[in-house]
Amino acid sequence: MIPYSRQDINQDDIDAVVDVLRSDFLTQGMVVPEFERAVSSYCGVQHAVAVNSATSALHIACLALGAGKGDLVWTTPITFVASANCALYCGATVDFVDIDPHTYNMSVGRLAEKLASAAKTGRLPKVVIPVHLCGQSCDMEGIHALSRQYGFRIIEDASHAISGRYKEERIGNCRYSDITVFSFHPVKIITSGEGGMALTNDALLAKRLRLLRSHGITSDAAEMQARPPLEIWNYQQTGLGFNYRMTDILAALGLSQMRRIGEFLARRHAIASRYDEALANLPVVVPWQHPESYSSYHLYVIRLKLGEIGRTQREVYDALRAAGVLVNLHYIPVYRQPYYEQMGFAVGYCPEAERFYSEVISIPMYPALAEAIQEQVVLAICGALGA
Ligand SMILES: *Cc1c(COP(=O)(O)O)cnc(C)c1O
Repeated sequence: MIPYSRQDINQDDIDAVVDVLRSDFLTQGMVVPEFERAVSSYCGVQHAVAVNSATSALHIACLALGAGKGDLVWTTPITFVASANCALYCGATVDFVDIDPHTYNMSVGRLAEKLASAAKTGRLPKVVIPVHLCGQSCDMEGIHALSRQYGFRIIEDASHAISGRYKEERIGNCRYSDITVFSFHPVKIITSGEGGMALTNDALLAKRLRLLRSHGITSDAAEMQARPPLEIWNYQQTGLGFNYRMTDILAALGLSQMRRIGEFLARRHAIASRYDEALANLPVVVPWQHPESYSSYHLYVIRLKLGEIGRTQREVYDALRAAGVLVNLHYIPVYRQPYYEQMGFAVGYCPEAERFYSEVISIPMYPALAEAIQEQVVLAICGALGA
């Protein structure tokens, strides 16, 4: 069986985890801040807050930006459900902006239209969450310009995109956003088993993110409130937070993986080039790359030219799975999930997203995918397409 994605763990990764297991601190030790520093310096951003998942990072990012009841949060329908659920956790309302037909990211044209009409009804979003699908950056300059015009905040969901670049700079530097979020789930670019990180250049946001990550508790005397006769010991809860902390065991794995990130990126690009070439003459569309972006290639998605293939998407998908290639589908438009349909979203809400959904398949893409296995995948695809 050939998975669509999987982690790549070597002896150094294992040794790093074992070292922490033998140390004094399994959590709240020194490895978490070390991992945070490694990621922030790699991305060129001021602050990094490690948490136990990207979902947690998205949740506290929304809270840190003040999203709450009565507020609107907009994202793309072609993403993992967590990009939208984070707003619901805060009591905010979610809406979706249709995708660009070439990059499959949130369309800046559609966003501009939706903002113009929302401005007329006073229903502008508080936060917009663009997602760098497959690791290719959104048009952040365009989204940022609109945020200035309409006064919304930006969270980049870069769960797919650590190591990717936009206009020659690393994704995660927050040049065009308030907060950027990464995921370290095993299928993503680097892993800590489970884990995520929220990055920002805003010291106040970083402070809020840190408080929210750990119960709303601070142990920094400067942040505590002097309240005689209530005596202050070594910590104080100043707000309501969660336990979203990352353990040092997992941070050690993440830190070790950071040392290999360049190698992972190079291998993903080599695999993508081989696919681009091998699939060029088949009735599929390979991922188009914007000249201003350098993808991390978390996913390699192909679109089936169904008019030229005498088979349905389902038949192609099933044929590949039967051939041992565990293809996947990224993604069903979030608003087509039963939970969202029950909020009133209907089929056809974002036509470009639905077209994408009806044609797309994710084929295997991970650093350890050997050339011989990749050839097997290509043969299976030819067979499944009847080509
Ligand atoms: C994986 C993923 C998440 C959630 O990441 P976790 O670390 O598993 O919580 C959020 N958004 C996108 C786009 C993802 O792909």
